[in-house]
Amino acid sequence: MITTYAIITIFLVSIIVNFNLVQALAYTVHYDVKEYRITKIPTVCAIKPNDSQSSEDRIKRMMAETSYAVGEWKVKLQGGQDRKTMQLWDINYLEKNSENDDISMCDVVIQFFRKPTSPDLLLKALGTTRYEPSTSQSFIDIFYLQIILCQKSDNYYVYTFPCYGNDMTTTNQIGTTVRHEFGHALGLGHFYSDDPDVTYQWSKTGADAPSIMVPFDYNNPSLIHIQTIDIEKIHSIYGPNGFLTFSKQVTEGKDADSSKSPTLVVIPSLTIYTNPSYQFGDHLSITFEVSELTGDPITFQIVDESGKKSQPISIQITKLKTEITAPGQFDSTIYKPGTYHIDAEYSGTKASVIFTLTDSGKIVIPQWIKNLGRWWSEGTISDKDFASGIQYMIKEKIIKIPIEQKSSEKKEVQIPQWIKNNAGWWAKDLISDSDFAQGLQYLVRTGIITV
Ligand SMILES: [Zn+2]
Repeated sequence: MITTYAIITIFLVSIIVNFNLVQALAYTVHYDVKEYRITKIPTVCAIKPNDSQSSEDRIKRMMAETSYAVGEWKVKLQGGQDRKTMQLWDINYLEKNSENDDISMCDVVIQFFRKPTSPDLLLKALGTTRYEPSTSQSFIDIFYLQIILCQKSDNYYVYTFPCYGNDMTTTNQIGTTVRHEFGHALGLGHFYSDDPDVTYQWSKTGADAPSIMVPFDYNNPSLIHIQTIDIEKIHSIYGPNGFLTFSKQVTEGKDADSSKSPTLVVIPSLTIYTNPSYQFGDHLSITFEVSELTGDPITFQIVDESGKKSQPISIQITKLKTEITAPGQFDSTIYKPGTYHIDAEYSGTKASVIFTLTDSGKIVIPQWIKNLGRWWSEGTISDKDFASGIQYMIKEKIIKIPIEQKSSEKKEVQIPQWIKNNAGWWAKDLISDSDFAQGLQYLVRTGIITV
């Protein structure tokens, strides 16, 4: 089986002659993203190096700085979130005392070396991050020997060239490198400008670097922090479910062909938004947001306080963000005032949102009665049929009538023409439910319709 390694390296910028310090006036920035993702709450293991040549105190400070660096990612990713969301951005951190310790539970392994073993990286890399797809682990290597300028001379010339010193690099530089490499382990690529001069200046003058993912230079002595743009980038590639967004189920292929890699079933994220409160007459509006289109419909139900559920409604989505509005209004014959949940499911992911429905006294006539009004104004149904609809509304207290009518004698149901005209306009939404209800109240008060 062939395994591909993604090696990301901070390359040192070699000596540049005649570097032009004039800052470009306009440039475009790019923020690259890697194709791998953290798929659970990550456990990060930092393995303390066994190095008798370096001071124990400096090694301790390096390990402490590494823990601050990972801690800074966690605190910034969790910043300003509620407690439930904070858990989705949690990072576990373990320090291991020996490279022989079991690292199978570690999602990110940070190891420290005096210098790289690969000749390609010698004097060029401060750190590397490698993702191992077979175990879904990222390996961060930090190289901690200081790079200095060495001199060599012969009878004619003095040569200057970079070499490794005996001392360790600064704690700040270690901290910056761990912050940067950990960004790679989370799936970030580099932040750079299309103007190489601008990128070069960021790598040298770290205090102004807009992102921790700028390729840094070893000449930069500052401790560089994780910036807002870095946190926003991580939040945007993972979405509202944090490190659980890309949790996956692995299902074996049907045939026993071992050369085939297992099929990954990605569970998408689903978030529902709605107004926190509605009143009778409002239309329910729901926005669904998903992390990817799976081809499955979103199914949702409205659940009242007692747990009674509406019929499931399915909608096929074609966009990551979909807003729907209920065709009918909230009316009191179907909904009672109270708290409701909207429970939704999409490709195995569930989400829920709460809203309250209040009765502000506004008159809302159910759609089916409105249809009656239209048919009646068009002469399709009789006055008597329409009157029974009105009686229903009064009994259900959709229209409230002051109890002052006294006529008990049975009359022929005969509704004035102007009410009929009103009904036609009302069915066409030319007059409001309240205006029409006033006409109906007139009918009851004058005894044309008895309740
Ligand atoms: Zn890098």
